[in-house]
Amino acid sequence: MIPYGRHHLDAEDIAAVVDILSGKQLTQGPMIDAFEEAVATYVGARHAVAVSSGTAALHLAAMAAGVGPGRRLVTSPITFVASANAALYCGGSVGFADIDPATVNMSPEALEQTLAAHPDTAAVIPVHFGGLPCDMEAIARIARARGAMVIEDAAHALGARQGDGTPVGSCTQSDMTCFSFHPVKAIAAGEGGMITTNDTALYRRLIRIRSHGINKLDDPFQAPEAAVENGQPNPWYYEMQELGYHYRITDIQCALALSQMKKLDSFIARRRALARSYDAAFADFAHLRPAQPEGRDQSGLHIYVVRIDFAAIGKTRGDVMRALRARGIGSQVHYIPVPIQPHYAALGFGPSDCPAAMAYYDQALSIPLFYDLTDAQQAEVITALRDIVG
Ligand SMILES: *Cc1c(COP(=O)(O)O)cnc(C)c1O
Repeated sequence: MIPYGRHHLDAEDIAAVVDILSGKQLTQGPMIDAFEEAVATYVGARHAVAVSSGTAALHLAAMAAGVGPGRRLVTSPITFVASANAALYCGGSVGFADIDPATVNMSPEALEQTLAAHPDTAAVIPVHFGGLPCDMEAIARIARARGAMVIEDAAHALGARQGDGTPVGSCTQSDMTCFSFHPVKAIAAGEGGMITTNDTALYRRLIRIRSHGINKLDDPFQAPEAAVENGQPNPWYYEMQELGYHYRITDIQCALALSQMKKLDSFIARRRALARSYDAAFADFAHLRPAQPEGRDQSGLHIYVVRIDFAAIGKTRGDVMRALRARGIGSQVHYIPVPIQPHYAALGFGPSDCPAAMAYYDQALSIPLFYDLTDAQQAEVITALRDIVG
């Protein structure tokens, strides 16, 4: 079976984890700082905060951006539900800015309209869908003009580069960027996430709310008299200064992720080469085309999505997925538009919030793309699609 995506682990990764298991600290040890530093250096951001998942990263970032009761978060309808759920975790509300069909990323024009309709917006979360960077300059300009913070959902985009060549995560056009290290993403930690930022005040807050709201960065204590005795710090003393969460990551996970970071560029290079081969092979298909044909050199190529005109071939998407499966080939749909998920429908959202996303969803299918996909396997996928889709 060829899955649509899969992680790649080698002996070095396994040894890195075993090393931690035979050491003294399983969590809250040195691997977390080392991994944070590796990612901050790689993307060119001042600060990085590692957390237990990409979802936790989005939740904390939304909270730090001021999303909450009466303060909205606006994101793309074509994303994993976690991008929108971050608002609900904070007690805030959600808005959607429809996609640009040419990129499948948030459309700046749609964002302008959504923000005009929702002056209560505290944060905008563009999603670099499939690893293709959004038009951050336009999105940031529109969001800032309305006083909203910008949080990049870069769960697909570690290793991607913006149009100006700066790495995604450098936060040159945003306040914070969130990554995920779920195994299907660019690098694997088992589970894990990261927030990068250049803003030291946001960084200090993120560190605090990652761990129960307890002050750990020797910020001023609120009861300094309890913290000190005769000029000597009281060794037991700490303060919980606001309600935070337990979203810490472990040293075991960070050791794996740190080892994987060394291979990130080769992972991305292989994904880009495979994507170009698919692009070339599909050029003469009548009813199938790549969903994101532009920016192959910039994209992290987390997934390879094709758009199939199912009406024209007289088959449903289910038919095509089952036929692929019968030939040992996995496929997936990224994503069902968030506004039509039952939980969001119950909040009053629906297809009319995102017509472009609905048209995309009607045709989308993700086909196998991962580092270990061989040329021969890719040829099998192409042949199968030629037979099934015509
Ligand atoms: C995977 C993903 C997330 C959530 O990351 P987890 O690490 O699984 O919590 C958020 N947004 C997008 C776009 C994702 O693909």
